[in-house]
Amino acid sequence: MSITLSAEKLTAAQAFAELLTPGRRVCLTTHVNPDGDGIGSEVGLIHLLQGLGVDAVVANPTATPDRFAFLFADFPRVDRSSEAIKTLRNADVIVVLDISDLGRLGMLSQTVAERGVPVACVDHHVSPGTLPPGPRYLDPAAAATGELICEIALANRWPLTPKAARALYVALVTDTGGFRFSNTHPRTLRIAAELLETGLDPESIYLDVYAGAPKGRPRLLAETLETLVVEEDAGLAWVTVPPGALERHGVGVDDLDGIVEFPRSVAGVRMAVLFREMSQGRVKVSLRSVGEVDVAAFAKPYGGGGHKHAAGVALPGSLPEVQAIILSAARDYLESSAHSP
Ligand code: AMP
Ligand code: MN
Ligand code: MN
Repeated sequence: MSITLSAEKLTAAQAFAELLTPGRRVCLTTHVNPDGDGIGSEVGLIHLLQGLGVDAVVANPTATPDRFAFLFADFPRVDRSSEAIKTLRNADVIVVLDISDLGRLGMLSQTVAERGVPVACVDHHVSPGTLPPGPRYLDPAAAATGELICEIALANRWPLTPKAARALYVALVTDTGGFRFSNTHPRTLRIAAELLETGLDPESIYLDVYAGAPKGRPRLLAETLETLVVEEDAGLAWVTVPPGALERHGVGVDDLDGIVEFPRSVAGVRMAVLFREMSQGRVKVSLRSVGEVDVAAFAKPYGGGGHKHAAGVALPGSLPEVQAIILSAARDYLESSAHSP
């Protein structure tokens, strides 16, 4: 592959591989409401490990969205159940992908915190990192965790099979918005090219991930976009998922994926927000930005995080309460970032 790795990355990749040896039971997990990067990294790593004779299983804190079910044709997975906790309890090694914070592991956080086995982590978030000790392979400059899994495979000369490549390609495509976002670096495309070289059909992957929607997905999009508010002077735009809309259209939170790009697409908008009522009196806030506006830094005081141009946070309160807090803070933040040098 035509990419080079720093000495530090090579050492980290080797330490990661040394932990995952035949005979050890490896359990992979990722953040709540897993996305294409979390799932793609898990499935890609499972296929790579299978090639080395290492048994690995996936146990996630919440369900796999239907659009990624095609990646799981070859092996079982366990989601959001006592079964997932049991799987973690039986593991000799835990590998956390696409997140570095215990809190984002939802119902599995406590088990991961208390197991006392090595907890390896591969991630590209800007994060304080609150996982128990174990090998780390972290790079916030990477477009996707899937990109880092490819680097680990390269560093250790693990054979890249078409099935591993397909899952890792899903990770890259989804986290870069189809290779459009600012995280799409030359290295990202070189790795994507290498994945395609295994004989992948990019259109069939696109169709699996994006064109198998229930009819409720475009209807939910239509209803949510109706709520668009644009404050041109502030450079702020937001949409709100109407309460009960997911249930009415028979869809899940994964079907909201990409909607926040619409408020971001308005000329002059520097910060875009999507609000969604969650269970237990909390509101999920998805944040996107353009240029110098850093939404990961904006979300941090509220306990959220993510990346400079894509971040999220969940806040307690009613929808109007959380909207008032976040929108007022966003106006101030945009005002001060407009004046900063
Ligand atoms: P989302 O808006 O859910 O698509 O998430 C955008 C980015 O922010 C992703 O990188 C997430 O991992 C991160 N993120 C979303 N929600 C949270 C949260 N509650 N705490 C920390 N990071 C989050
Ligand atoms: Mn993710
Ligand atoms: Mn990711």
